Amino acid sequence: MAKVMVHPAAYKNVHKAVVRAFELFTLKLKGKKVFIKPNVLRASEPEEGIVTHPAVLRAVVDQVESMGPVSIVVGDNPGLFSYGANEEAFKRTGLMEASKGYYQNIGNDSQQVGFNPDFIPSVSLSRIVLDADIIISLPKFKTHGLTVMTGAIKNSYGFLPGAQKARLHKIAGSPERFHEMIVDVFRLRVPDLFIVDAVVGMEGNGPACSDLREIGLILASDNAVALDAVIASMMGCDPGKLRFLQKAKEAGLGDYGHSGIEIIGRLKRLRGFKLPPLSGEAISRNEDAQARLHSKTIMRPQADPDLCTGCGSCIAQCPASALSMGDRIPQVDQDKCIVCFCCQEVCPAKAISLK
Ligand code: SF4
Ligand code: SF4
Repeated sequence: MAKVMVHPAAYKNVHKAVVRAFELFTLKLKGKKVFIKPNVLRASEPEEGIVTHPAVLRAVVDQVESMGPVSIVVGDNPGLFSYGANEEAFKRTGLMEASKGYYQNIGNDSQQVGFNPDFIPSVSLSRIVLDADIIISLPKFKTHGLTVMTGAIKNSYGFLPGAQKARLHKIAGSPERFHEMIVDVFRLRVPDLFIVDAVVGMEGNGPACSDLREIGLILASDNAVALDAVIASMMGCDPGKLRFLQKAKEAGLGDYGHSGIEIIGRLKRLRGFKLPPLSGEAISRNEDAQARLHSKTIMRPQADPDLCTGCGSCIAQCPASALSMGDRIPQVDQDKCIVCFCCQEVCPAKAISLK
């Protein structure tokens, strides 16, 4: 039976929960190459809650060091076109300092590997993902406009460097296929341990909005499907309706059924938790609902003129070239938009809403 740890924590005492996670999910680290991957969506302040909090990364690095001697690499591939922005994202989020000198720009060294030919025959993967003996994934407890939630499985999408992520969004072409694609990326190298920063989570229009939620927990597991099922349930979402969890189960990666999950601690259902605006349609496999998602959402990414600074990041990073600068703010071409929500993810001013 898969186990999921649910442990109370605050950032100032997060070590206790992290140590407990390593006690429950034992790893032999001595002499091994360990890759630690936080969720670093983009450069932002730690208190914005967009990335894994540096206190969590620091506690994990301390713990791994104490189990050594080990070789440690800390890294991620933030955003979509991130080659120059990797160091900047780690510095601003406080994750560079928390890495204690183990940070590497993992986007600089990659290798081509076979992929699901339904999407693309091969993808480029950061080499450390293939080289590491042990991978420890540190997702953030957040909502996501396209996948409803971002947790253990979605965090592995950052194994892919740079612009390729945007291209794959375009190749997927629909929310349902994107759900399936993230599982194919995850399967390229399943991490060995997941420790989720759920001390402060994000609800509503995630993964980069200002709706933060005090949760006060660290979650952990060695099974991503069980862990994501617990996150979904805490958010008030039926895990069995999430296409990426359905596909992960079909692929033999685990089960989201509660009877097959042992909770170590107390499951906390978050009352009135705000799911992303279109989650009803996004989680459904029903073709009509998916069509509705497309037709509705094409009109949804909208820049708020009061917040937009006209920086053009969303236009530069839209994988479908669906955005262009209109009268001071970006406008979306409804026929080109593939409903990927990348514009909302990258907007530094949180100006794009998906009402
Ligand atoms: S406009 Fe936004 S949601 Fe539409 S394709 Fe571009 S980045 Fe994706
Ligand atoms: S990224 Fe945000 S602030 Fe920049 S142009 Fe687009 S909507 Fe405006």
